[in-house]
Amino acid sequence: MPKAGLKLIGAKYRFLTVVAPAGRNEQSHRLWELECICGKRVTRTTSNLKCSISCGCIHRKKIEDRERYAEDPPIVIPDQTFGDPSE
Ligand SMILES: [Zn+2]
Repeated sequence: MPKAGLKLIGAKYRFLTVVAPAGRNEQSHRLWELECICGKRVTRTTSNLKCSISCGCIHRKKIEDRERYAEDPPIVIPDQTFGDPSE
């Protein structure tokens, strides 16, 4: 009988990838072992996965800055914006 939640293995949460189940914590919350892009392994509960970004090597602030720049790329005005007035 398949265990619920094992489909999370391989799921990516920002810079973390779920690699293995890691048992349960004192509150009986399911734990997962995750591998960060830097190679460090960390353990998170299922509910913590969704707000996890990295093992701690990448800070939330930096990522938010990066996403803001991605949403608002610099405006590039092409040279021919004004077209031909004789048309
Ligand atoms: Zn890391």
